[in-house]
Amino acid sequence: MKRKKIVAGNWKMNTSWLEAFDLATAIKNKSEKIKGVEKIIFPPFPFLQMVKEIVKEEGDFYIGAQNCSEFQKGAYTGEVSAAMLRSLGCDYALVGHSERRQFFNESSTQLIAKINQAIENNLSVIFCFGEQLSDRKNNSHFETVNKQLLEVLSYFPKDQLPKLVLAYEPVWAIGTGETASPAQAQEMHAYVREQLASIFSKEDANELSILYGGSCNAQNAAELFACADVDGGLIGGASLKAEDFCTIMSSFS
Ligand code: PEP
Repeated sequence: MKRKKIVAGNWKMNTSWLEAFDLATAIKNKSEKIKGVEKIIFPPFPFLQMVKEIVKEEGDFYIGAQNCSEFQKGAYTGEVSAAMLRSLGCDYALVGHSERRQFFNESSTQLIAKINQAIENNLSVIFCFGEQLSDRKNNSHFETVNKQLLEVLSYFPKDQLPKLVLAYEPVWAIGTGETASPAQAQEMHAYVREQLASIFSKEDANELSILYGGSCNAQNAAELFACADVDGGLIGGASLKAEDFCTIMSSFS
């Protein structure tokens, strides 16, 4: 199987209802002719259904939730379950984003529970991981990434791999305007694929899409996506501009 090329936009806690409507409509219209790429938008929870309505006729367009509960259902005020998300037509859930790890102290145990909930409810998952600046400075970035992968992925059987996409997001590059160089991205993606081969198998590792995230934009996407082990991008800031986001979608060589 050939690895999927994916460009996913994480809107985070941005946009009003009207802004979300206009942005999704503009992205859909501008990206109609871009083929061979899976396009995903992660809007805020309240706008998921509206964005789904806008993009649902496009075969290669999907929507995802930026988070989902680790619990199945019940007395968990404020939580949104994977079953609820699936019932409104959601395709993906984002799990392990560094902002969730940092501001909401999400642990690997919680991330495993969230991924389990998502997969049980037929959602695909983009699982994010990546090192802090201090890890890179003291040359422990491979060790950190390996730990994040092992702590979570070793709990999943091989038959669940088709529901998983990985996103390497060095924390020092998220929202900072500082991007990993193509060489740094490729080096880490190749390393991640090697680790995946030892957790699962070489064949499985070759079939998993690994996205890069961290200040990826319309100017640098092409050189990042040209790297052999970079299968697309998870885009924050630049996904809030329809033109830029669609340029990123068309940046595969
Ligand atoms: C992100 O939040 O996943 C992200 C990559 O953000 P940005 O593109 O703004 O760095």
